[in-house]
Amino acid sequence: MMLSERELERYDRQIMIPGIGIEGQERLKSTTVAVVGVGGLGCPASLYLAAAGFGRIILIDEGRFELSNLNRQIHGWQRDIGRLKAEAAKEKLTALNPDVEVETQTIKLTEENVDEVLGEADIIVDGLDNWRTRFLVNEHCVQHRKPFIHAGVRALYGQMTTIKPGEGPCLRCIFPQNPPEAERFPVLGATPALFAALQVIEAVKLVTGIGRPLVGRLLFFDGEEMHFEIVDVERNPNCPTCGYL
Ligand SMILES: [Zn+2]
Repeated sequence: MMLSERELERYDRQIMIPGIGIEGQERLKSTTVAVVGVGGLGCPASLYLAAAGFGRIILIDEGRFELSNLNRQIHGWQRDIGRLKAEAAKEKLTALNPDVEVETQTIKLTEENVDEVLGEADIIVDGLDNWRTRFLVNEHCVQHRKPFIHAGVRALYGQMTTIKPGEGPCLRCIFPQNPPEAERFPVLGATPALFAALQVIEAVKLVTGIGRPLVGRLLFFDGEEMHFEIVDVERNPNCPTCGYL
């Protein structure tokens, strides 16, 4: 996909990055990313995806902004309370970068609709707050050999990994049992912002081929100690989700 004069200027500083160039930027423009969950992770992730020039962004969230979301879900401004998160986010992303196409899906992902909703996405970014839906997205990604950039946060802690089905473990290889779910948990907004930025770095790397994605590696962050740690994680050959690949 060719870049306009305006796009060449907008993306000038990242086209300069060795390994991206005009070709890499054109690849970003040809890529569709689905952001599942427009919350603490999905708001900043979609912001940086749009700024980076991913051509099409699909925002999936059926929720509306509440006052208690606003410490971390940065597309939700005071005036957006009560509005659909995906719609308010689309407005901001389009205002930031009119050269990206933003689509909203204001529905809840289910086993029945997951393939249709995520069907056109090349990469999935995890902006979820529950494991049930994460494993549903993981299954879609394994079936369609699609990268899934997982992140999860709590308070000043977080974790992430990049799933490339067949090349490294899937989410089910790493977490054979569903971790416990919590309705309401503590989050400092800067923690998901940090992980969202890392997710976008991973997405750019997957598309342009630069660097080494976080496949087969799980990154942990402890913001209290300001400590990052990466541990290797392996495929489970008997994984019920990806074992057949
Ligand atoms: Zn697996």
